[in-house]
Amino acid sequence: MVNIKNNICFFSNLKYNIFGDFMNELIMIKYGELTTKKANRKVFINLLEKNINNLLKDFEYKITKDRVRMYIECSSSDLDSIISKLKKVFGIHGIVVAHKIETDVELIKKTCLELVKNKYSTFKVNTKRADKNFEIHSMDFNNVIGGYILKNSDMKVDVHNPEVLINIEIRVDGTYIYTNEIAGLGGYPVGIQGKGLLMLSGGIDSPVAGYLAIKRGVDLECLYFESPPHTSVQAKEKVLKLASIINEYSGNIKVNIIPFTKIQEAIYKNCPDSYIITIMRRMMYRIAEEVCARKKLKVIINGESIGQVASQTLTSMRVINSVTNLPVIRPVACMDKLEIIDIANKINTYETSILPYEDCCTIFLPKHPVINPDLEKSITYENSFDYRELINEAIDNMEVVSLNKEEKYNDYL
Ligand code: ATP
Ligand code: MG
Repeated sequence: MVNIKNNICFFSNLKYNIFGDFMNELIMIKYGELTTKKANRKVFINLLEKNINNLLKDFEYKITKDRVRMYIECSSSDLDSIISKLKKVFGIHGIVVAHKIETDVELIKKTCLELVKNKYSTFKVNTKRADKNFEIHSMDFNNVIGGYILKNSDMKVDVHNPEVLINIEIRVDGTYIYTNEIAGLGGYPVGIQGKGLLMLSGGIDSPVAGYLAIKRGVDLECLYFESPPHTSVQAKEKVLKLASIINEYSGNIKVNIIPFTKIQEAIYKNCPDSYIITIMRRMMYRIAEEVCARKKLKVIINGESIGQVASQTLTSMRVINSVTNLPVIRPVACMDKLEIIDIANKINTYETSILPYEDCCTIFLPKHPVINPDLEKSITYENSFDYRELINEAIDNMEVVSLNKEEKYNDYL
């Protein structure tokens, strides 16, 4: 997508560029882990570009890319806004604002000096010479530039711990100079792995699980079980708000809302108290599997964490998991609660997660849920009512809410 209005290409007039007008800034993106995936590199890079294009559709810019870098040219007034958007894109290792100039030794010297002068006290120069036609070797060029800066400023060289690292990349199409690198999120471009179904509750764990799955390139749909009137509209809106927060890292997340009241009431009526949660979760997994089948989603993802509650002991997980053959990904399975909270804070879901609205898991909570449930008993208890029909009815009445990127989570609650 080329959106540069009036063809203002920043560097088209390079040859005539006087130094006073050296702000030839462009955003340079260093790819994340995808550089290691040799065979799929092209697919990864193209998907990353597509994701970035979706994100930047309101801006005017131009993207160019090669095997190691992507470049975004834009108006300098949009630079900061575009960078803050890129900070939420998976598949990016680092973001720098580079100054692209003609490969002219005098111009490079002056640009480097201008970038750092009066801002830092120590520096180091790091030259990469991708264009082998450039006659000065990298090490020698470090000395040329270093010498010039030493002579024209009060700065000193510190090769071990410099305050500023001046990176110079000499490429065939010009020279790129940059100093500070902004860390990207890493991970894979969203969608590279296809889609999974996130069981999203209003708790702390499942939004974090969703974020971590997105980080590995998984596109998400969400599944939320609600039990009105036992659970409130606010509880549902809280889940939509959480979904919209993780949607900032993803794209067009859909939230599928399952009316779960009849199933829960049937379990409550027909099964012993201690097995209510085990059987309820077996029903959730059955529904999740069926939704995956109908929507061609590849895996189930949830926020279970080993040992956190009775239904998350290894025995419970085994009994609950046995209703489905789909892979169940549990990104936070081996994390402590504090580690999960740490991520929840970073991604801004924590404050919403702790809002005090009830979840369907908490409304019929028995005093003594079984910790080591027995599979045979679970099957016997659940066969005491026609759950198949109730499951089909629940899925047929599923409500689907589509979120899009522009929708701010403040639209909810
Ligand atoms: P908390 O952070 O309080 O533990 P939680 O959402 O993780 O909240 P759990 O009871 O531990 O609650 O549930 C384990 C997992 O089961 C959740 O992470 C979520 O993936 C799924 N889950 C629980 N309740 C629901 C629900 N109402 N709808 C969809 N998924 C749910
Ligand atoms: Mg939990």
